[in-house]
Amino acid sequence: MRVYSDPASELHVNGLAGVEAPERLPAALAGAGKAEREGAPVEWCTCGPADEEVLARVHAPAYLGHLKRLSAQGAGFLSMDTGVNEHSWEAACLAGGAACSAVESALSGEAAFAIARPPGHHAGTATGMGFCLTNHVAVAAKHALSRGAGRVAVLDWDVHHGNGTQDIFYESGEVLYLSAHQSPFYPGTGWTDEVGEGEGAGLTVNVPLPAGSGEEVYAAAFAGVFLPVLREFDPALILISAGYDAHRNDPLGGMSLEDASFGRFAAALAALAREIEAPQLAFVLEGGYNLAALTEGLAATILGVEQGQSPAWEYAGGGRPVETARKTLAPFWESLR
Ligand SMILES: [Zn+2]
Repeated sequence: MRVYSDPASELHVNGLAGVEAPERLPAALAGAGKAEREGAPVEWCTCGPADEEVLARVHAPAYLGHLKRLSAQGAGFLSMDTGVNEHSWEAACLAGGAACSAVESALSGEAAFAIARPPGHHAGTATGMGFCLTNHVAVAAKHALSRGAGRVAVLDWDVHHGNGTQDIFYESGEVLYLSAHQSPFYPGTGWTDEVGEGEGAGLTVNVPLPAGSGEEVYAAAFAGVFLPVLREFDPALILISAGYDAHRNDPLGGMSLEDASFGRFAAALAALAREIEAPQLAFVLEGGYNLAALTEGLAATILGVEQGQSPAWEYAGGGRPVETARKTLAPFWESLR
């Protein structure tokens, strides 16, 4: 597993959200260090900043100019919970650069993790919100498409719905977006009937889950929806919006996942990528606000890819959120009928 990061990711400070703290960067890197000590091969790589044109594949140039100016001024805010300082523009560019490097690595046959902050999946074309300035996983997906990957999938297991990623690709026939998230919860989107439009009809796959859901519920979402849809979509690359705020100890999320749950998610996806002969996985860090859970969950993810056994999750029906998602999406996916 290649890990892409830059120490300057620690310099961005969001004065409106102390929980998205600079300490998250060393905590996440400590997770990769732990995985390495436990036997996973980890290659530590630096990343350069993404060029503005690369970010502009996703974001409106006027929005990028606004963010850059606010950052150059040294302070400002994009929304009620998203502030910037003098390092925020650099942090946004570095996070986009790390995500693009992770794509390059995965396409060349080596799984990769882009470890940067702040998170990105709430950022829309011209909107910064939910601690997010720019949308790194969307930048990564566009980068993969520019490199000739015909179809890209983004699976988002952060506890929050990735409204930015969904919006950016809502009408795209090239990018499949799948999300399991706490609902109802911030940011209020991600209902089952949001399925995409136009060429993107059926390519937005939401499984909203009630607070308190644990690994069994997620396993049903994987086995009953995500894995069959991914298999049928047959993407040229699978990106993961890897947040750790669905961990039972997270101060923002209300879910009940354990450290090891993330390892099993990663192992299941790695096995699927092998099965459909997709390249290796590329992970992009999203949220996760309990530092110990961030370290442990990220370590489990890397170990899951490198050493994990794919969990034997069979879908046997049952859970209402998963059944509702299957029924709503069945017109678009033969594997759900
Ligand atoms: Zn989150």
